[in-house]
Amino acid sequence: MSLKRAKGNKTKQSSSAEEEKKSDSISKQIKKQRKKNNNVGIIENKKKAKMQEFQREDAWKHLETIADLLVQSDPYNILNNEELSTLIQILENYERDPKEYYKEWFDEEYEYQFDETTQLKKPINFRSNLYNLNQFRKRVQYRYYWDIQAIIKDLHKLFGNIYMRCKNQQSYYYLSKVWEDAKPKIRSVIQKFSEQIKEEVHNILQLKTEYKISSKIWPVIPEKKEIRTYIEIQDYEPNPNEEPHISQIKEKLSSKKVPIKCKNDCVCFDLNRMGTFNYSEITWDSECPNRRNRIECKEHEGTDKTCLNMQIQLKQYLTNRINFGDNADVEETLCWGIDVYTRNVIMNILPLDYDEQQKNLFIEKLILAINRPNDKQRGYDMGLACDYIIKESRMISSYYNKDDRKMAKQIKRVIKLDGGGFRIHTKGCGLVCVNKFGIKTNSLIIPYLGEIYQPWRWYEKQDFIKKQMKEFNKKDILPDFYNIMLDKHPDEDDGMDILFVDPINKGNFSSRLSHSCNPNCGTVTTVSNGTYVIGMYAMRNIQYGEELTFDYCSFTESKQEQLQALCLCGSLNCRKYYLELSNQREYNAILDRNHCFIKRNAILFNACLDNIKIDESLFNKHKIRSSLLTACPFWLKSWISQLLKFIDEEYLIYKTELDTKFVLNEETQNWNLFTVQQHSEERIQNLIFTLDKIKFFLKQSDSVEPPLSKISNEDLIMNFWRINNSNDSLLQNDVYQLFQKFGLKKLMELITHISEKRHLYEIQEQLILTRLLFLVLSHLLLQQKHSFQYEGLSLMLQMMAFTYTYFKATEYKGFQSFPMEDLEWGKVGLIKKKCKVEGKIYSSLFVWGQLVGWYKQTVATPQISLSVDRRGTLLYPQICSFDISGEKQVSSLQDKCKTDYFQKQLEKRFNIIVGELNYKTNQKYFGTIFFEQIYSKELGSEFLDRALIYDKKDFNIKFKQFLKYEKIKFNHSSDKIYKLMDNFKNLIQVQLPKQKLNKKQMEEIKSEERHKEDQKENA
Ligand SMILES: [Zn+2]
Ligand SMILES: [Zn+2]
Ligand SMILES: [Zn+2]
Repeated sequence: MSLKRAKGNKTKQSSSAEEEKKSDSISKQIKKQRKKNNNVGIIENKKKAKMQEFQREDAWKHLETIADLLVQSDPYNILNNEELSTLIQILENYERDPKEYYKEWFDEEYEYQFDETTQLKKPINFRSNLYNLNQFRKRVQYRYYWDIQAIIKDLHKLFGNIYMRCKNQQSYYYLSKVWEDAKPKIRSVIQKFSEQIKEEVHNILQLKTEYKISSKIWPVIPEKKEIRTYIEIQDYEPNPNEEPHISQIKEKLSSKKVPIKCKNDCVCFDLNRMGTFNYSEITWDSECPNRRNRIECKEHEGTDKTCLNMQIQLKQYLTNRINFGDNADVEETLCWGIDVYTRNVIMNILPLDYDEQQKNLFIEKLILAINRPNDKQRGYDMGLACDYIIKESRMISSYYNKDDRKMAKQIKRVIKLDGGGFRIHTKGCGLVCVNKFGIKTNSLIIPYLGEIYQPWRWYEKQDFIKKQMKEFNKKDILPDFYNIMLDKHPDEDDGMDILFVDPINKGNFSSRLSHSCNPNCGTVTTVSNGTYVIGMYAMRNIQYGEELTFDYCSFTESKQEQLQALCLCGSLNCRKYYLELSNQREYNAILDRNHCFIKRNAILFNACLDNIKIDESLFNKHKIRSSLLTACPFWLKSWISQLLKFIDEEYLIYKTELDTKFVLNEETQNWNLFTVQQHSEERIQNLIFTLDKIKFFLKQSDSVEPPLSKISNEDLIMNFWRINNSNDSLLQNDVYQLFQKFGLKKLMELITHISEKRHLYEIQEQLILTRLLFLVLSHLLLQQKHSFQYEGLSLMLQMMAFTYTYFKATEYKGFQSFPMEDLEWGKVGLIKKKCKVEGKIYSSLFVWGQLVGWYKQTVATPQISLSVDRRGTLLYPQICSFDISGEKQVSSLQDKCKTDYFQKQLEKRFNIIVGELNYKTNQKYFGTIFFEQIYSKELGSEFLDRALIYDKKDFNIKFKQFLKYEKIKFNHSSDKIYKLMDNFKNLIQVQLPKQKLNKKQMEEIKSEERHKEDQKENA
């Protein structure tokens, strides 16, 4: 999913599964964007240089031979000589007027007999400056010729010019002979050229086709009914538009920032001096302190001049043609643009004597011509735009000059050969400047208004849209998006916060602006009169006919979606797509490694247990203050502080990785820094969105309980052992029944035996005894082959012997959210019916799911991903999973299990992949050896390997590990465990450490046990 952001923050949403929102503090985005672009530009140019070594030499080589042919036929070298007149004099002995001879020559003898297309259509312009062969050569060299006509015309001009200088018949006949000799050869050369030039055009058209809008239907001219309409509003409209949301949003929009009093000579009285927007600092580079601070003025020192930094509060908006007719500043109208491919084609066919800069400038002017308010309906026709330039360039003091004319003509010539590379595409309805005097830099265009959403509500809407797209089978279509993020300024007293503005249904003409990678407008979140408003400003002078654009700074996580978002801005630094790809693999690689699913659960569990000291300095550093922290229960704050810690850690790791990989110079270093900062900000944003959702949930559910809590020892015993004839104990039901089914009598007896014995012990010891039983069963299972998947069960029991921590999820009250207004234009042109739709349903496990999946907002039901992700990570498979043949199987579901650590271990140890492990369960407790390894840091990094040591024969090697980790985790003494181990003495021999127990001690233990047994019997 993608978002626009107001300088930046426009947001967009999209259909594809992997969406997420990245928003950003207003302009950081753009600054980054800018930096990014520059960098990309450099790399691109290098690539481009290589790309341009394509073969287009053949056709031109033929033309070069024309010059040689003419020289061969011209012993006096007249054609080639710049000092013509002296040479011609040598030949002159006759008296007749040469003009007459020329006429005769041309009219009668030398008319071309080529096919029609090669015939001259206009009389030769004798005032042409083409008067020697070198100039013709140059034109060949600069690739001026794309058709035979132009070549013939130039040869006529050349000869015509020289004939003009002939004063007698001798020179005239000489020239005629030269021409006559060369003509047939030239004819064949030209024909070869014409055959090959098409191929060369074809080659050029094959370049960079990946950036070509490839639609079979062209031109596409949107019909009126296909163009989005909007209801005009004068202020933000909260969604849902009712209390308490109205007040909440109002509160979030309010600012405590106060403007200072400006001096009476402040720059805010003059648009031209007011300064430009600084994208890297996200501030206006202005001498006006208020402007710099992105806050509108209020008072000034003793002057009644009009302050221009009050445009929002004074509603000094640009006027729209709909309301103001011919006096308007802007018009909502069809706009057109070119993709990167077309731009590339144009660059490649323009004459080589123009440098890159001149060509780029020309393309800028061409795009202006495309959108000049001449014939909007036929804006797709590049020929028309060229005609416009050719015509305009002949006017005095025109914006276009004769170079523009030459280039426009060049385009027209190639269009004739193949127009396929010169398509102009519609951007839909955009905004064009219709003020003859243009729009001045720093003018307010209009505030970017729309419906305004808190994050929880915004994502409800996204979920809904996604669902609709799916329903209407429009999943692969990239919908239009207009939404933009409104970030509060970081220097605000109550810290940062984010809202979403969406003008898709209700807004104003600011939502008409197209994207450009080199925009003339920009959005700036501004405090006006104590309230946040996103202002759309002219960032430079905009001339009559120019389309107004801004940089969407939008991101998507879906490559598929990006590919559909080809940019039509046509600017030099075009990024090719108007959606940036974010969340690249390398970035999430760190998350996967250092912040994996289990780790995220461990962090959450710790926060819920109140085990963590909150680091307030992190909140300050990231500007997370009261606006976000109000109504946060302690455990949630604790969780945030741990997340911030991770985000900072990740920042450092990522930076180091990039620097190791890419640092070549200062520029790359800055680029790395920018990349890392951007990602870090995305993380923070996601944290904010998650927080907002959780707060909303807790409020609706009327709870402040943490989502996870530890399972008491009593409950744990209940889960393992049958209590009160319950039917769902792990050992006495599930495991026992499996053994029964396959006739493992000894093991059944063991379970029964321990079940009886356990009552002799304290609850702690009962748990140790249970873990010992897991270990013993695991070992005994391996002693012989069985016809069920006994190896899997053995492994799982061994794991359980080393699993100490179990937790459960809080059962919150689920609820249904507020109804959603269907979007008439939810996906422009796709879904048009309008109705009220049921509100989103939140289930009990939403909080757990969302907190664990905090880094993405695109999952409508995070509890469902949770229940997939926890398989084999937080949860062991059901015993019935092993009630299958022991044959090795390969599962087609293997991919689905890639996060299933249990499967991985099984594969590692036995080279077995069990087809379908069953995780469907009503089990309410979670905990595995994998969770243990991450959660109980004291066990050390080798815990898993040591605990899972594999030996079919020797039990002691496992038992040693058991003792060790019981000691580390609970400080349980070996003595105690040896005593408990006595319960298994007939089945398994345990080597006792010789020095530890002497005979006397052994006697004591035995008598103690006897004593206990007596007591039991008596009872
Ligand atoms: Zn000022
Ligand atoms: Zn002012
Ligand atoms: Zn672009």
